[in-house]
Amino acid sequence: MNIGVLALQGAFIEHEKMLRSLGVTVTQVRLPEHLTDLDGLIIPGGESTTIGKLAVQYGLIEPLRDFAQRKATWGTCAGMIFLAKDIGHDRQPLLGVMDLTVNRNAFGRQIDSFERAIPIKGLVGDPFPAVFIRAPIATQAGVGVEILAQLAADQIIAARQGHLLATAFHPELTHDSRLHQYFYDIVDQTR
Ligand code: GLN
Repeated sequence: MNIGVLALQGAFIEHEKMLRSLGVTVTQVRLPEHLTDLDGLIIPGGESTTIGKLAVQYGLIEPLRDFAQRKATWGTCAGMIFLAKDIGHDRQPLLGVMDLTVNRNAFGRQIDSFERAIPIKGLVGDPFPAVFIRAPIATQAGVGVEILAQLAADQIIAARQGHLLATAFHPELTHDSRLHQYFYDIVDQTR
């Protein structure tokens, strides 16, 4: 199993460490050719505008879109924004593959970072320690999207659409590897 982590900007090292602890071979993706032979891909948190700009510069937009249309891809935080079909404007490059309407920086400045234990569908055991950092929220999801966790009806924070996974928070910044294991299982089932 070989999983790539988009390594343009943001928290990619932490994802890499988490995947390695599960025995996965990890490839840092900076160029289109790095996607060859990958079974899955993680798009990390960071700054979605920066990730988008760099992806344009490196000729990665089309290759990433093509990959995400076919193979297991998980976006965390900025990565969730980057996967979404709709963020209310078109001023930044997106892959636009996942049927979510996403609001960037949905929690505003007052509570721009916080941690909360949240039950996530599909995970066994305790609620998941979700770390939110200037996090987005999905306000709407298409019919093909399974909602895995939400704070309120219009506050979706984890969702799955077939081989696509999105979380508004940062599982790689915790010691809880259950979501990485969950993604591993998606990769395994869809490769
Ligand atoms: N606020 C960032 C954005 O809009 C996302 C923050 C994060 O990834 N932790 O891209």
